[in-house]
Amino acid sequence: GEQRLRIPPWLKTEIPMGENYAKLKKTLSKLNLNTVCVEAKCPNIGECWNGGEDRISTATIMLLGDECTRGCRFCSVKTSRKPAAPDPNEPQNTANAICSWDIDYIVLTSVDRDDLSDQGSSHIAQTISLIKQQRPNLIVECLTPDFRGDKKCIETIVKSNLDVYAHNMETVRELQSHVRDHRANFEQSLSVLIHAKETNPNLITKTSLMLGLGETNEQIRETMSQLRTRANVDCLTLGQYMQPTRRHLKVKEYIRPEIFQQLQEYGESIGFLYVASGPLVRSSYRAGEYFIKNIVK
Ligand code: SF4
Ligand code: SF4
Repeated sequence: GEQRLRIPPWLKTEIPMGENYAKLKKTLSKLNLNTVCVEAKCPNIGECWNGGEDRISTATIMLLGDECTRGCRFCSVKTSRKPAAPDPNEPQNTANAICSWDIDYIVLTSVDRDDLSDQGSSHIAQTISLIKQQRPNLIVECLTPDFRGDKKCIETIVKSNLDVYAHNMETVRELQSHVRDHRANFEQSLSVLIHAKETNPNLITKTSLMLGLGETNEQIRETMSQLRTRANVDCLTLGQYMQPTRRHLKVKEYIRPEIFQQLQEYGESIGFLYVASGPLVRSSYRAGEYFIKNIVK
């Protein structure tokens, strides 16, 4: 079979496990919240959760359980045809917990729930509305499923009073079926970003691509260009794909830091409000900092 590539030096980082991290982690498990930051052992936790004593800049919370109805080949979330029913108290509990923190920016994400009649959209929207009622100044980003392109689901989220609508394209058009669940595709995901913006033109939209899956530099640039010209997407993150376990898609290439830098410059030149681009960047990487610096309303 194919050989596994050696991990280059720029990806060998220690996850900082400071005192503050340990303390926050304890608080989180008491509240029974699923942070992606901790669950996924995200290497950026030191940078996102900065700000000293008990202060987090950006954190990511996952709603609607930890089992997904889809099975994307890059993702380590468990797949289930029929995940547990949503916890009806989750929106209120999550809002209460988040609003008790001294935090700038929260990312809410979820597994895909193709099993639910509204694909979980009202549950997510309710959580956002409750947060915004309690803390109107807390910036809320929601990273949504594609909702199979269902316009009503997208509108439910847009009308919840969120600040940033995010949906990840994940990869270039040419690799969609190789990388994502068969129910996902390029045009459907682009239509989500288009419809969110059409529903509220003042809403900031955001997407993310993983690199190193075998795409060409030309294909990445073409995707970036389409995101601007067809969907008017505002923010973009580009990061290196990392294989979570041996059963997942292999890394085809470790993209060099200078290529990430060139893509960032290209993205800025075609009008993205910001492009966060680098080997360790994830879709919520330093999102609060980037937002406050580049998108002050
Ligand atoms: Fe958490 Fe996202 Fe930052 Fe990682 S990049 S620490 S998941 S907010
Ligand atoms: Fe993972 Fe999202 Fe794909 Fe589900 S839809 S398998 S959570 S990437």
